[in-house]
Amino acid sequence: LAGEVGDELNQKVYIVGGFVRDLLLKTDNWDLDFVTEGDGIELARQLNHKIGGKLTIHEKFGTAVIKLPQFISIDIVTARREYYEYPAALPKVERSNIWSDLFRRDFTINCMAIALNQDNFGEMIDYFGGMKDLQDKQIRVLYNLSFIEDPTRIFRAIRFAARFNFTIEKSTCQYIEQAISANMLEKLSNDRIREEIIHIIREQDVLDKSLQMLNSFKIFKSLDPSLTINSMVIRKVKNVRFSLEGFRQLSSKPFNQTIVMLMQLISEVDTDKISEVLKKLIANETLVNSITQSMVKRRSVYEILSQEEVDRYTIYTALKPHSDEALIFFYNDSENPYVRHYIAFYKLKLSSIHIKITGKDLQEMGIKPGPIYKMIMDSVLKAKVLGTIYDRNGELEFAKQK
Ligand code: ATP
Repeated sequence: LAGEVGDELNQKVYIVGGFVRDLLLKTDNWDLDFVTEGDGIELARQLNHKIGGKLTIHEKFGTAVIKLPQFISIDIVTARREYYEYPAALPKVERSNIWSDLFRRDFTINCMAIALNQDNFGEMIDYFGGMKDLQDKQIRVLYNLSFIEDPTRIFRAIRFAARFNFTIEKSTCQYIEQAISANMLEKLSNDRIREEIIHIIREQDVLDKSLQMLNSFKIFKSLDPSLTINSMVIRKVKNVRFSLEGFRQLSSKPFNQTIVMLMQLISEVDTDKISEVLKKLIANETLVNSITQSMVKRRSVYEILSQEEVDRYTIYTALKPHSDEALIFFYNDSENPYVRHYIAFYKLKLSSIHIKITGKDLQEMGIKPGPIYKMIMDSVLKAKVLGTIYDRNGELEFAKQK
């Protein structure tokens, strides 16, 4: 259909990139990228007229996206050439042809296109040897400065190599090493690094491979010298998915899986460096602070909970200050059966306990405001957690006695 619309508008249209790669690998991919040697926005408008999706146009970039049900997404762009004013900058773009559009891309396996106009429908366009590299299971860049121009491609190379179980071709490996030695990673903003690390850890099935590759290129060390990722960390990061599955049985609230994985990833960083490292990986400062608190306290939590007998109030006070994500991290990280048992018990039986009496209630009972209020409330909470009182009336009676 896109080709027909292209014919009507007298524009060449191609499907390119990941879709073509995945088609050849016989893998589903519903992110369709169309490139036209003509007006991309007009093509998007006319195409959407026929298929009735939700069209968003970015005039400034000359691009458009059509969203269809079932998470089908169609990106349409005018063929463009990209150039970099300085290394690691965001690229400048100008209108061009399909060759230049493919040449601006990252790896040969992502640089193939299939023509969609009637006169050459289905013709495979493979200027850079993508098909051969797919057969040889290799990730290869198009030219030696590729990683210098855009160091995020280093992370992408590792992500694709891990995902498809490909190797990174020898010269490409050398270009990566050269870019890292030239400190190109330092030129990337925290936002761009963050995005790439998150893309990598989301591909959980192959995490051991991708983390090992990141390690072998000493990428973690270049991002932050205190970031130690040893084989134990890799194993635990891989296990996060199982801990999360366990927690989903205990609570219907959604968890932020990425946060748990990031906590586990930095679990061997020295306590005084945690906050600094986290800032590179998480943008939200409040979140960074709360995660830092939980990570700093984790050893004392494990110590309290690693006993055979711990009373309910001790469990409650040890775990109450921490988010669900921190609890899952403790569960996964400690690997201690007692700690795990008490965390599950807390989540199931204790986490929702809170007191209902307020300062106003105490005032109405004729108690003068002061530090006594906190003492009373703490004892009421303790009694509730220990199971010696149950409802609000009980709470009020108990407060009166106090
Ligand atoms: P995925 O399956 O992870 O979505 P994809 O190949 O579709 O993989 P995208 O990140 O959606 O990846 O990018 C779409 C296309 O844009 C890629 O196939 C590649 O050709 C190109 N591309 C994306 N990022 C870069 C980059 N940093 N440098 C060069 N080309 C890129």
